[in-house]
Amino acid sequence: MAKNKHIYIIGAGPGGLATGILLSKSGVDITILERSNTVGGRTSSISENGFKFDLGPTFFLYPQALEKIFQSVGLNLMDEIEMERLDPQYRIIFKSGGHIDATNDIKLMSDQIKNFAPEDANGFSKFMDENREKLVKMEPCLTNPFLNIFSLISPRLLKLLPMVKPNQSLDTYLKRFFKDPRIRLAFSFQSKYLGMSPFVCPSLFSILSFIEYEYGIYHPTGGCNEITKVMARIAKENGVEIKLNEPVEEILFDKNKATGVRTNKGNYRADAIVMNADFARAAKTLIPNRKRKRWTDQKISNKNFSCSTFMLYLGIEGLYDVPHHNIYISEDYQSNLEDIERRHVLSKLPSFYVQNACVTDPSLAPKGNSTLYVLVPVSHEHENIDWTANTSSYRNLIIQELEKVGFTNLKNRIIYEKIITPANWSNQYNIHLGATFNLSHNLKQMLYLRPRNRFEDCEGIYLVGGGTHPGSGLPVIFESAGITSKLIAEDIILN
Ligand SMILES: Cc1cc2nc3c(=O)[nH]c(=O)nc-3n(C[C@H](O)[C@H](O)[C@H](O)COP(=O)(O)OP(=O)(O)OC[C@H]3O[C@@H](n4cnc5c(N)ncnc54)[C@H](O)[C@@H]3O)c2cc1C
Repeated sequence: MAKNKHIYIIGAGPGGLATGILLSKSGVDITILERSNTVGGRTSSISENGFKFDLGPTFFLYPQALEKIFQSVGLNLMDEIEMERLDPQYRIIFKSGGHIDATNDIKLMSDQIKNFAPEDANGFSKFMDENREKLVKMEPCLTNPFLNIFSLISPRLLKLLPMVKPNQSLDTYLKRFFKDPRIRLAFSFQSKYLGMSPFVCPSLFSILSFIEYEYGIYHPTGGCNEITKVMARIAKENGVEIKLNEPVEEILFDKNKATGVRTNKGNYRADAIVMNADFARAAKTLIPNRKRKRWTDQKISNKNFSCSTFMLYLGIEGLYDVPHHNIYISEDYQSNLEDIERRHVLSKLPSFYVQNACVTDPSLAPKGNSTLYVLVPVSHEHENIDWTANTSSYRNLIIQELEKVGFTNLKNRIIYEKIITPANWSNQYNIHLGATFNLSHNLKQMLYLRPRNRFEDCEGIYLVGGGTHPGSGLPVIFESAGITSKLIAEDIILN
């Protein structure tokens, strides 16, 4: 009897797990090889001393994207993962004064906007109406592969141009709805999910804040890491093999065709290989430079990478009276962004995000205690910042800043603490330059100009996750799994 075809997936992050589930019913054998001792990648957890934190994602947006993956194996997302839609979805606090409790209640939201800027009050409903239409037009771009230059001049994309305005920044686009720069920030800070400033980020990404308001922000009980744990269980129940503690050390080739992988435990022959590991790091370490034409080491080093994050995971005595998600915008936001993206230095007046998850989910801390997850956007690794020398002083600055914005006596209430710096993202989590959101999403690095789902440099290799099309962030990563699985079905399974 002929042997089954075998597909190997490198990495059990959300992209790798979603691809495993989508291909699980296709009759091929599937193995996921994961270097660490747990599934989930950046969407895993830190659990210590009774405190539990999400390592990375805390905003679960647009569950519809994951729902499609669950439906492919006959399951309903909401039956498998308990989750709650948050309202307000977050508080956005301007350190220069004032805050907005973001909600999809048009009247409540418009009233809050009116308090800041009366002339902007009607902008919210206009913004929602226009972006609803924009998302419908963009949907085919998010669910189809971009394999060559012709994909860019396809009728579906050309139809989109007048609405997408490719050369316009997100901030400029938002001026049509909101005159007050603070309100524009409330609708554009989401570009940080892509690791970009709203003054540079293309205007098409206005759909990010639209999606939050239209479809909600969810908190899965136990955190976003529960999503990848459940996905791993479902993948296994559907026959996918997951091998932990088995890093892939090399992709094996016959000329330019990938034929297998070598791990710390041995060699495996593969009919196709899916790379979910961080694209730039994996390309540079697993595929010899001479086999890469478009993505040579030199070309990768000339690309633009996203910002990184300085993380504090704090176990706290008691519970602060602040909402679940809180975004603190620097008094000097422009300068803060330039520190991150252009000057590559540490901001003295940083913006940051604090998750106070125990107000919704007390399961995350021992009784009487709570967790604070603090994310500070900072430059990716750069020679200007020596994290060995700066970690402790930057940690102290952030604690002081938190005390200033209302986390009183924080210093004395910390009973557990863990720090992750850009250098740790790079060395311990294998992320190129510690750029947590992968290649930036500027127009030169999107659609067919991003590393393609069917990897263009070597036959038999496919990409999935934040490093390929459409981009970073859980909903789009799940779309990338759909695109990549379709390509593998066409090339390998139906062939
Ligand atoms: C701090 C932070 C906050 C974020 N917040 C959000 C948010 O709120 N909402 C949102 O939607 N997104 C967020 N993201 C972005 C994104 O959704 C997550 O980072 C997501 O986990 C990326 O998924 P991925 O599939 O691309 O790969 P990853 O999660 O990076 O998984 C890749 C896997 O490959 C494994 N691997 C690497 N090399 C090898 C090898 N050689 N052999 C075997 N295995 C290997 C890794 O160990 C890892 O498990 C955040 C990211 C970070 C870091």
